[in-house]
Amino acid sequence: MSKIQQTLSIIKPDAVERNLSEEIKNEFKNNNFDILKEKKVKISKSEAEKFYQVHQSKPFYNDLCEYLSSGPIVVMVLEKNDAILENRKLMGATDPIKAEEGTLRKKYGISIDKNSVHGSDSLDNAKIEIDFFFKD
Ligand code: UDP
Ligand code: MG
Repeated sequence: MSKIQQTLSIIKPDAVERNLSEEIKNEFKNNNFDILKEKKVKISKSEAEKFYQVHQSKPFYNDLCEYLSSGPIVVMVLEKNDAILENRKLMGATDPIKAEEGTLRKKYGISIDKNSVHGSDSLDNAKIEIDFFFKD
């Protein structure tokens, strides 16, 4: 059975820089996601390191954190039935070259690192990530 969920979405610096934020937000709306919360922020490298701490042992960790903190990002709480999985499907594979036709990363992604969007990968991580950006 499907159930209503919230997930964290980020429009990454490469897409914000290319003025794709409105177009990508419309993709979410057209796919029946409600944008419950939204803000444009620029995070520090240490905040990016905290956000991506699950990846701290990966070879790409440092570059990833440099990148996420390199320019403004748009963070959103998206709501839909099965929002976490539905957003991952809409985003497509991490590497835009491998992403399916019609997915956001296929349409907008430049490379595996500059892949335009982030989406939470589980219910637990969605809660952690939403709190990270929106806990008052
Ligand atoms: N990433 C990268 N090189 C890699 C794998 C991942 O730069 O070889 C970056 C990419 O921006 C990706 C992020 O690290 O979106 C987090 O990786 P993850 O495996 O969690 O991919 P995602 O969940 O974003 O699809
Ligand atoms: Mg991930």
